[in-house]
Amino acid sequence: MKKTLLTLGFLSLLTLACQQSEKKQDNQQVIAEFTEKKQKFNFSTEKAMNFLASDELNGRDTGSEGINKAAIYIEDAFKSFDVQPLFETYRDSFQIQDIQAYNVVGVLKATNTTDKKPLLIGAHYDHIGFSKPVEGDSIANGANDNATGTVAVLELANYLSQQNLNRDVIFALFSAEEKGLLGSKHLAEKMKSKNMKPMAVFNIEMLGVPMVNKEFEAYLTGYNGSNMADVFNQAYDNIFLGFLPKAQEFQLFKRSDNYPFFETFKIPSQTICTFDFTNFEYYHHVDDEIQHLDLKFFQKLVDQMKPGVMNLINAEDDKLKLNQ
Ligand SMILES: [Zn+2]
Repeated sequence: MKKTLLTLGFLSLLTLACQQSEKKQDNQQVIAEFTEKKQKFNFSTEKAMNFLASDELNGRDTGSEGINKAAIYIEDAFKSFDVQPLFETYRDSFQIQDIQAYNVVGVLKATNTTDKKPLLIGAHYDHIGFSKPVEGDSIANGANDNATGTVAVLELANYLSQQNLNRDVIFALFSAEEKGLLGSKHLAEKMKSKNMKPMAVFNIEMLGVPMVNKEFEAYLTGYNGSNMADVFNQAYDNIFLGFLPKAQEFQLFKRSDNYPFFETFKIPSQTICTFDFTNFEYYHHVDDEIQHLDLKFFQKLVDQMKPGVMNLINAEDDKLKLNQ
């Protein structure tokens, strides 16, 4: 009896050891495939900016062939970072009259299962297509507005795919922002219907040029509406996110994709931006091109944002809140 038990015990230990070594092999295979995918796509913020703002994409108007190329690029980047589709596919489709539009939405799962709410990081990837020609050029490339936001989201996804996450992080690239925040309205409603309330939304717009004479790196719209800037800034010795009076004057809080999420969920949902109304003359202009941006500044800023974003991810669900 005893002997049988011992033998059985030994056999089950052997099985366990085999299973573990298979698991280890599986893991190694997964890591190898991931590295291969990553190397194959070879993401860099500079290459991504050059592609998304190129003439080939014809200004990324919603429903156009150009925006479709941008969407495929974003999907390929997501795949290379092992960002999974949030829904059945990366494309979250919606209809605007006879135009088929789609957000591109992915998720990085928390390292351990958790009931914490997800953080949503977003930016619109559409632009206005063509505009008033200048010297024969009619393509409104939208390098600053909003290839920079799109690339910042991709770089954050790249970085966060290598971190331990204590909550899910959703990455949403919105379409039809330029047609009235239609992509973000659609996604906010869809997430509400599926009971997927985010803890907060961190939206990104126009980071391609430094602000002039400010003692912070970027501003946050709706600055006084929540403590998001405080929580973010705790990662730095200096003030990273500041308050821009002009942003309040022009109600920028209501003019980008953060707003539908605020309206739908009543959560902190705000936009980071460096366009300060004095530092860039090509807003919605055919000359919003890469050569008018400070790419070195942009790349450094996106790198510097990472600790602040980690602070948002690591904050408890009830730490980030709206100001009363
Ligand atoms: Zn924009």
